[in-house]
Amino acid sequence: GDFNQKIDYVFKVVLIGDSAVGKTQLLARFARNQFNVDSKATIGVEFQTKTLVIDNKTVKAQIWDTAGQERYRAVTSAYYRGAVGAMLVYDMTKRQSFDHMARWLEELRGHADKNIVIMLIGNKCDLGTLRAVPTEDAQEFAQRENLFFTETSALEATNVETAFLTILTEIYRII
Ligand code: GDP
Ligand code: MG
Repeated sequence: GDFNQKIDYVFKVVLIGDSAVGKTQLLARFARNQFNVDSKATIGVEFQTKTLVIDNKTVKAQIWDTAGQERYRAVTSAYYRGAVGAMLVYDMTKRQSFDHMARWLEELRGHADKNIVIMLIGNKCDLGTLRAVPTEDAQEFAQRENLFFTETSALEATNVETAFLTILTEIYRII
């Protein structure tokens, strides 16, 4: 655990995107290597932490998850406050969740520090046969908006660790 460990940095990273895209399961996979088959909409959870070593420094990642407010687009400015990273998550089988990324990005940029590192994530790549968002569409959007991009599966643990490590390493690089 974190007990008695010297922490060099704490990085706050926020998860945003439509309801049911898999934000909570991505966090469960990263922080606890778990996947909860019948996850209910999260109630009251604020953040989870995971401590890792980057370049010989101890970094505590504090990953914030919404408590279902995204349903009403009612994520508050307190949620974004102090964030140095953001993961914009869509469900690659739900076109609408990708189309909403521009709005989430606008909301994020309206609240967050201008140097925030942002990663676009197309989740549920295990459901490839139901894909509704071509990789190229997401790549193009990410390139235009200057975002990192990857596709993940919280269910099968595909690219989840890599996605978090990429954003945390980039945050470390620019601070
Ligand atoms: P949130 O509302 O964005 O936090 O979404 P959840 O993490 O609660 O996930 C919503 C639903 O999608 C749940 O039924 C999850 O089991 C499911 N889910 C989440 N991630 C994945 C994934 O990578 N693959 C599949 N097939 N289902 C997923
Ligand atoms: Mg959730």
